[in-house]
Amino acid sequence: MTQTHFGYETVDENDKARRVRGVFDSVASKYDLMNDLMSGGLHRAWKAYAVMLANVRQGQRVLDIAGGTGDLALAFARKAGGSGQVVHTDINEAMLRTGRDRLLDAGVILPTVACDAEKLPFESNHFDLVSVSFGLRNMTHKDAALREMARVLKPGGRLLVLEFSQVAQPLRKLYDLYSFNVLPRLGRLVTGDADSYRYLAESIRMHPNQQALKALMKDNGFGHVDFHNSTGGVVALHVGIKCE
Ligand code: SAM
Repeated sequence: MTQTHFGYETVDENDKARRVRGVFDSVASKYDLMNDLMSGGLHRAWKAYAVMLANVRQGQRVLDIAGGTGDLALAFARKAGGSGQVVHTDINEAMLRTGRDRLLDAGVILPTVACDAEKLPFESNHFDLVSVSFGLRNMTHKDAALREMARVLKPGGRLLVLEFSQVAQPLRKLYDLYSFNVLPRLGRLVTGDADSYRYLAESIRMHPNQQALKALMKDNGFGHVDFHNSTGGVVALHVGIKCE
């Protein structure tokens, strides 16, 4: 059996998706509140930057993978307009349901598809833009997921990966202190679940850093890849262009 990591734990590959599902089943109803509390609202700025860089235009086709509660899908839908198509997807039904309710409250109805990023149920060469925000870190086979993202993009189409990354050296001590002491306590207080937020902190450390993710994207279907750090590297936005 092949082993992988779930945070700092080594687990059977077949078990990782189940453990990740457990995390998001547990936090779905409080996910948005926790994002605001944990990041002091900064996640909104990180996402706004991604939306700005995405520069979605009227009529474009956009796929949001691991879309969760729908922040990016909603922003893209407003840009793509009635002639465009934005598809909101996630592997987790509880997250998708919470997202769909939020989109409905905002007066937006989007196609919502429950699917695994590693096996996307979409035709090849279809989308102008694919996004995955804070989702790639949780995937068991990141290479397979990236290849799928490349497959469904039109040649020359762009992938945006917004993800936690490696913070700059001077911030590391403080960031570790916050991640391993404050986050799990906040998680317990708000959601009754400290373990999911311990997993968050650990999974960030196990995720490829800026350069490693860039190399992984280049090896899996993307010709040109750039990244932009935010908040001292707490997050990085990678932009990959599918090879023509
Ligand atoms: N994109 C949203 C955001 O930025 O707020 C949600 C991010 S949330 C931290 C991570 C999401 O990744 C969860 O909703 C989870 O269900 C989803 N996810 C994890 N593994 C996945 C997979 N293999 N395929 C699709 N989605 C996955």
